[in-house]
This record gives sequence, structure tokens and C-alpha cells, in this order.
Amino acid sequence: MADIDNETEADVTGVAATAPKDDTPKRIGDRKLKPSTLMMGHGFDPALSEGSLKPPIFLTSTFVFPNAAAGKRHFEGVTGKRPGGADGLVYSRFNGPNQEILEDRLGIWEEAEDALAFSSGMAAIATLFLSMVKPGDTIVHSGPLYAATETLIARILGRFGVHWLDFPAGATREEIDAVLSKAATGNVALIYLESPANPTNALVDVQAVRASRDAIFANSPTKPPIAIDNTFLGPLWSQPLKHGAEIVVYSLTKYAGGHSDLVAGGVLGSKEHINTIRSMRNTIGTICDPNTAWMLLRSLETLELRMSRAGENAVKVCEFLRQHPKVDSMGYLGFITDARQQDIYDRHCTGAGSTFSLLVKGGEAEAFRFLDALKIAKLAVSLGGTETLASHPAAMTHLSVPEARKKALGITDNLVRISIGVEDADDLIADFDQALAAI
Ligand SMILES: *Cc1c(COP(=O)(O)O)cnc(C)c1O
Repeated sequence: MADIDNETEADVTGVAATAPKDDTPKRIGDRKLKPSTLMMGHGFDPALSEGSLKPPIFLTSTFVFPNAAAGKRHFEGVTGKRPGGADGLVYSRFNGPNQEILEDRLGIWEEAEDALAFSSGMAAIATLFLSMVKPGDTIVHSGPLYAATETLIARILGRFGVHWLDFPAGATREEIDAVLSKAATGNVALIYLESPANPTNALVDVQAVRASRDAIFANSPTKPPIAIDNTFLGPLWSQPLKHGAEIVVYSLTKYAGGHSDLVAGGVLGSKEHINTIRSMRNTIGTICDPNTAWMLLRSLETLELRMSRAGENAVKVCEFLRQHPKVDSMGYLGFITDARQQDIYDRHCTGAGSTFSLLVKGGEAEAFRFLDALKIAKLAVSLGGTETLASHPAAMTHLSVPEARKKALGITDNLVRISIGVEDADDLIADFDQALAAI
């Protein structure tokens, strides 16, 4: 549980009495410590693990009750026979010490009340959806979404009678109002956003979505929660909970994991929403394993360093690419040309990230010659790792997207997707320079 202000209130669904406890103060005097400081110790007490500086990896499927009464007390909490919920760890499908430390630390970045770890970004998204929707409900979402998320909503949840309506990522308040009002004639279970959209880089106006939701559902007993996939810019460059989102979703595989060596997901939000999602995760077992959680703890220690460096590198590389004669245009949040998008950027983002689109002059053949000539950048999908990656969406990740839809999304044959890593910026520029010369 993210307990960033040293509150001592009871946790309703079970932070373990027996799990390693917090060892780092969250404040020194009036000074609230920053996430990059808290990543080294928060949520772990070495005294509970033989003085080990780093948390051990707890490989166990189950946890021992100190006595029968404690076992009964636990299950009274789980079943609601006793208020206050479960406490203590009991079985590893529900949680474990490494995952709990990870969840404590994940929540810190966005000052979320609580957080959950998952075995993949898609496991996080699927568990969120399953915990919120029932047949006949509507999911209203921004478009485009990550391809697997679109598949999950339309082709899988659609089979169970869930409906969906979408608005374009860059929609205005009026356009959002129109779609939400139409959806509100039925039961809207969830508003689901992704910003920036991939590969268009269009930003969603989260504040406008929140204002629209609050106005349209002003007289409803319940308002559909607003969830957002913050994988591309979070947690360093965008913190949507501050702009009206209530649930934040991550593929931790990307910047948070950051070394292209694991697959994991996360969800952050209020205790109330997180508890709803936790019940579903407990039931279906989409939690990440202890080893992955431990690797993520290591990743989070350098999150700010890595993301800052990648962002700085991207600024330099994009400045170079922009003026290159073989480059047609760029889709990079540092070079927004639309005034409305710039306004959203100024309100919502503190950095342009390190993932962008490069449109070379020519078509697929030119794009392929460029990709095949790269010496440092590796040809691979994914993003947010320490190493620079490049891919061709039209021929790879979006190959199965119908031509008309590709056109609408601006996925052209000369578009190359690049995720900049933490290498030396001038080395990367030299690599892109020689690869452009090969076109
Ligand atoms: C990669 C990604 C996902 C899916 O995450 P996995 O960890 O691969 O399951 C979801 N959303 C976005 C924006 C992503 O980039």
C-alpha cells in the first residue's frame, strides 16, 4: 500500500502484518522526500530479513499462520465477517512481500493511494476491465488504443455483450460531450483513455474528459471512473491523477522496467478502485511473480535517471533529424504544430518523452534501407528500454490494420517508430546520420 504520508489507518484488504515494513521516513522536518529518494528503501525493513540491505526474493506459494485464531481472523476479514478486511499474507496468488514493496513504491510516483502489480500490461488492463464491466455496459474510450487493448474491448469483451464507443484522442470538449452523452443513454461502466496515442502521438485532454464526465453524470448516483494508460509518458513526464483521471494503468515492461528484460504491468488509484480491481486479481491470479517484482524494484531506483537521460537524448536526436534533408517530417511531442495539442501538452506534460515517429522521404523501400543500415539502434518493437529501438509500424505492429484505418491514423509506409535509450546522444546522431545516408 502506498502510504506516502506515514498515515497509520487500517488497510482494508491486507497489507501484511508479517511482510517487510517501511524503513524510510517520508519526510525530514517539513521536507517531503522525492520519489527518487524513496525508491531505495521505502516499504522494506532490513531488520525483518537478517539485515539484508536489499529485499530477498520470497519464493513461496503460501504463508504460515502463527496460530489457528490468526488464520480464522484472516478469513473473517476476507469474507467480510469482520470489518477492516484481511490482513497478513496468506497465499501467493493474492500477494507476496516483493510485490507489496513494489506496489508501495509504484504508488509513490503519482501520489496514488494504492497500487497493484500485474504479470503484464495487458494482464493489468484485462483485470481492470473484468472488475468493472458486465454484459450490456458500455466502455467509452479514446482512439486509437494499444492494439491488444482494442482487441480486448471489441473482439473479446464484445463476445460477452459489452459495448464500446470511442472519440479521437485529440477530441475537443464538445466532441467528448457528444460521445459521452450518446453512451450515457445506456450504462457507461468505464471511461478508458490512452495518451499519447500510438503512433499518432495525439494527446488526450484529460481535464476536458473529467469536466465532461462530471457534467454528464452530475445527477447519476454513480459516475463511470476515468482510467488512462500512462505507459508512454509516465510517471516522469505525465501524472494524469493530477488532471482528473482516477485510475492509471502501466505496461511496466516499457520505461518503468526500462531494460527490455521483463514483462509486467501496474495499476494505480484510490483505495476504493484498487480494492475492486484487487478482488478480481485475487480471483484470477494476474499478479506478477516475485522475481519480476524484485527486478522492478531495481529498475525503479534508476527510473528518474534513465527517463531524464532518454528524454535529453531524444531532444538532441530529434533536433538533428528535423533538419536532415532525407527527413520528411516528425511526430515528436517536442515539435507540436497544432495549437490545441500544444495547450494540452502545456497543461498535462512536463517532457516530450523519448518515443517518436520519423517520416523519411520516400516509402517502404526507403524506410527499410534506413532501418537495415542502423548500427547502434536495434530493430525491435517495444520502447522505453536503455537501448534505442526502431521499428516499422505499417509492416510490423500494425500490419493487420485495414488500409483505410492506417490512412486515418497516419500510419504511412515511410513512418519509422523510434524509442531513444540512454546511450551517448552524439553516437546515436552519428548512427542515424549514416543510416539516412544509406537511403
Ligand atoms: C506495451 C503496451 C501495453 C501492453 O503491455 P504488455 O506489458 O506488453 O502487456 C499497453 N499499452 C501500451 C501503451 C503499451 O505500449
